[in-house]
Amino acid sequence: MTSILSNAIAAKRDDLIALTQDLIRIPTLNPPGQNYRLICEYLDKRLSGYGFETELIRAFGTPGDSGKYPRWNIVARHAGAHSGDCVHFNSHTDVVEVGAGWTFDPFGAEISDGKIYGRGTCDMKGGLASSIIAAEAFIELYPHFAGAIEISGTADEESGGYGGVAYLAEQGYFDPTRVQHVIIPEPLNKDRICLGHRGGWWAEIETKGEIAHGSMPFLGDCAVRHMGAVLSEFEDKLFPAMAARRTDMPVVPDGARSSTMNINSIHGGQKEQDDDFTGLPAHCVPDSCRIVIDRRFLVEEPLDQVRGEITALLEGLRASRVDFDYELTELNAVLPSMTDRDAPVVQTVTKAIEDVMGKSPEYVASPGTYDQKHIDRIGKLKNCIAYGPGILELAHKPDEYIGIDDMVDAACVMGAALESLLLPKG
Ligand SMILES: [Zn+2]
Repeated sequence: MTSILSNAIAAKRDDLIALTQDLIRIPTLNPPGQNYRLICEYLDKRLSGYGFETELIRAFGTPGDSGKYPRWNIVARHAGAHSGDCVHFNSHTDVVEVGAGWTFDPFGAEISDGKIYGRGTCDMKGGLASSIIAAEAFIELYPHFAGAIEISGTADEESGGYGGVAYLAEQGYFDPTRVQHVIIPEPLNKDRICLGHRGGWWAEIETKGEIAHGSMPFLGDCAVRHMGAVLSEFEDKLFPAMAARRTDMPVVPDGARSSTMNINSIHGGQKEQDDDFTGLPAHCVPDSCRIVIDRRFLVEEPLDQVRGEITALLEGLRASRVDFDYELTELNAVLPSMTDRDAPVVQTVTKAIEDVMGKSPEYVASPGTYDQKHIDRIGKLKNCIAYGPGILELAHKPDEYIGIDDMVDAACVMGAALESLLLPKG
């Protein structure tokens, strides 16, 4: 269905393309967190020109913040002519490393076959550009709207969001008295609404041994064999138990509707030598072996249970295995987040997708976490979804792209949502 606003957005297609290209050409690589100030200044100039009041906010003292790599964020607010709800579009400005395998210039923002190529096109500068165009077209068409529109560009989502949304939430920017509806234009695809994400628990487990000569291992205690026992327990007990659990959350892809765990790394024994080392190893029994685990859990699983399940396996080994000793260090924990299907922002965007695309949206949840966790837990704001253009599977890959038509369609959906939330009814 076309509307006056959809037509106005479609007429801004060239502007949308140029805006996306400009954003891609500012390489905001994280780590280390480059050019955050530059991209905030660009957004400041752009949004100030459309009557937004802007604030540039540095997340002093957050992980990675330094004189060389300051964590800058922007919050831009455009108040309407009357009081009403505030709709906030939050996009992260950071992109992940380029990696190998590109056939396009990762920061060239080249256009080919209706797509813009580059690192961060789909995750998520295309979504940011769509939300800006939607807001600008809406403000031009309805200067007397009620409430307020906010657009934020935030740092460090790819490294946990502590110098971005978490910091802003701590400062009160996502207080439900200030902001009522949040849309995060992550690349979930233009006809899907993402209601939330699974939780994550990251830990390091170290098994301990005793160093001895490799020809007499019985005089020492092999930490790698102890870790082998841990991994056997995981294979025999933990992995089957996790696979049997299914969540009611609509997590995609289907494999992520169960609990999962990745073993990120394992290291035991002697320190690895540099690549140019040509010598032979010394013969030692390893006195330490470490793994890092990445446990993703469901909204139905309390964090204490997730921790307790692994601790119980380790304690079981301590009781049953001679000289078994371990240390478990928690690295980070993020609770699952899930917005109700009848929340106002879900209902509004559902109707907007139906009106713009003539079909009902698919409801999904994300296997990994994103900034919704901070808006939910720190900001205490539950009325939050992810909705934006782009194909999730392209995120972080070589030759990442965003479809221009998809960006226009998603901007029309965002505009239609603004009409429902910020125009007087009737
Ligand atoms: Zn993202």
